Amino acid sequence: MTKVLMPLLAIALLSGACAKQPTEETVATGENLLLSEFDTPLGAPPFDSIEVAHYLPAFEQGMEEHMAEVLAIAESTEPATFENTVEALERSGDTLSRTVGVFYNLNGSNTNDEMQAIAKEVGPRLAKHQDDINLNEALFARVKAVYEQMDELELSTEQAKLLDETYKGFVRGGANLEGEKKARFREINEELSLLTTQFGENVLKEMNSIALLIEDEADLAGLPQSVIDSAAATAEAQGEAGKWAFTLQRTSWTPFLESSERRDLREKLYTAYLNLGNNDNDNDNKVIAAKIAALRAERAEILGYETHAAFVLEENMAENADNVYGLLDRLWVPALARAKTELADLQAMADKEGGDFEIESWDWWYYSEKVRADKYAFDSEQLKPYFELDNVRQAAFDVANKLFGVTFEPRRDVPVYHPDVLAYEVKDADGSTLALYYVDYFARESKRGGAWMNTFREQWKVDGEDVRPIIVNVCNFSKPSEGQPALLSIDEAKTLFHEFGHAFHGMVANGTYASLSGTNVPRDFVELGSQMMENWALAPEVLPTYALHYETGEPIPAELIEKLQTSGQFNQGFTTSEYVAASLLDMDWHTLAEPAEKDAMEFEAAVAERLGMIPEVVFRYRTPYFSHIFAGGYAAGYYGYVWAEVLDADAFELFKEKGLFNQEVAQSYRENILEPGGSENPMEMYVRFRGSEPSVEPLIERRGLGG
Ligand SMILES: [Zn+2]
Repeated sequence: MTKVLMPLLAIALLSGACAKQPTEETVATGENLLLSEFDTPLGAPPFDSIEVAHYLPAFEQGMEEHMAEVLAIAESTEPATFENTVEALERSGDTLSRTVGVFYNLNGSNTNDEMQAIAKEVGPRLAKHQDDINLNEALFARVKAVYEQMDELELSTEQAKLLDETYKGFVRGGANLEGEKKARFREINEELSLLTTQFGENVLKEMNSIALLIEDEADLAGLPQSVIDSAAATAEAQGEAGKWAFTLQRTSWTPFLESSERRDLREKLYTAYLNLGNNDNDNDNKVIAAKIAALRAERAEILGYETHAAFVLEENMAENADNVYGLLDRLWVPALARAKTELADLQAMADKEGGDFEIESWDWWYYSEKVRADKYAFDSEQLKPYFELDNVRQAAFDVANKLFGVTFEPRRDVPVYHPDVLAYEVKDADGSTLALYYVDYFARESKRGGAWMNTFREQWKVDGEDVRPIIVNVCNFSKPSEGQPALLSIDEAKTLFHEFGHAFHGMVANGTYASLSGTNVPRDFVELGSQMMENWALAPEVLPTYALHYETGEPIPAELIEKLQTSGQFNQGFTTSEYVAASLLDMDWHTLAEPAEKDAMEFEAAVAERLGMIPEVVFRYRTPYFSHIFAGGYAAGYYGYVWAEVLDADAFELFKEKGLFNQEVAQSYRENILEPGGSENPMEMYVRFRGSEPSVEPLIERRGLGG
């Protein structure tokens, strides 16, 4: 459930990794419509006239035009002003943005070998293009000149934010450094790029190798047939046909730990997981992790920050490490206390079954499944008949209509990129057009996994014209066979609302600058809009209005709603504490003030000691396999998931107090939280809506961690 942003900088990372070369050169037959503004209803991309052979020439011309615009700004002999430098830079690159918007959306949702080959070719060229802009010294000198006059310029809030972001973008990329420091900065970046890649590769190698090979069918006791089948397939793929293989991928070990009746084998598999990347072999990550943390600390120092966390967090709503620790510490105490209560429940269950042992970490999944079945006996298959895709989508539209007066009109005249895609014109309460919105719900081979929101075009304003956004939601729900209804699981229904929440955030965007508009907000703020929407999906007032049995039309029974609500709190002590512990481990690694290499396992043990962790609950990710922070983009950022949850739980309280569809609260939510996008300080926006900074209490209550 991620929201994919598409800044030019990130493009290279999205390009297909295993693309095949096209077998034959495709020649374009029609005019290349990517090269000029689309002359279509609502500015919709003319998918029916865009050919694969158009992309590469459009990228090339787009980069050329963009570079000419950038050089004209950099080499201007006029004194630098906000308009001729910062705003001009923001407005540059029309053809390139248009091409990026169409190509990368379709490469994610409707790709083929030719497109993947283009992605592979274009990725590095776009990265170089972006570097050439970032490292242009004349350009930076002009941006800096404007930045230094900031106080005298009488800029609007939005303009000041754009100037600040533009300047910081250069500085964070090392533009202000000189001589030795600049050289060392580049060296560190190169070294980090190698080490983080190595870290990720090591984790993958360890994860995919066999951690438990079963040869005797009796050792499969308790496992569901689907788990046995996929273990057989894994074994066969790894040259062990006729046996059953389990790896350290969560999809492999979680079901084993949940259902295997063999305590000794659960111990074996789980212990292998706990030692992932810590086996003193070629895939060992202990030293690599410590080096990465030390290099990040050194780079932060060069750039003038106290720690790497300070460097990361200034760009986020949390702003600094103290605020992150404040939240995590506040959650840790009740979560651990709750986990201890849950542990007692598990022990009681084991005792009842006549087990003569103390619960260990590898028993947690197995016994918590038994306690779950005991306390909340219901089958998720019981829910499915009530969640028909069309009803769930209509419910999301109805919630938006009741809250904000917006309407959704099908537009069958607008071209779509696949027959499964539906197009809607979204209109505001006054009838004006807010957005063009596509939904693309069904899984297919040409689509990557997951669910996301993206834009083909951002919203912005220029010369009194308000250019409205073009937005898509992509999901991977199973397509029913002809004549059958598309039924969703409860998680899928939540996903639909979640992605609709991101989309709605984009639809009501009301900014001047595309780079600050809509969902272009800090990472720890962006999930607020989406998670908020999930609250309505599950509200007892809303559920029975749309969760209707597909055969009988009967609304979902009250007792099922009740079970749904209460089962949400099950095992939250464990889930919260293993997550918060990992978030704190991340923060500790990235608040090192000295760039000295630590002993990774000693460092981690000291964190566990400080927290008073119990051995039955382990960090969700231990240092040698914490890819989010050592190989991905979540360094000093793993806290972000729960940060956004605090926001949505606290924000939704206001609706609970004043009424789920209170018009004043809805209007204030739209104006203060959604419309400004990234053009203001998110905490100030939040306080304008809520009257105060968010409180952690509603989340603690929602997770059932209260006293
Ligand atoms: Zn999301």
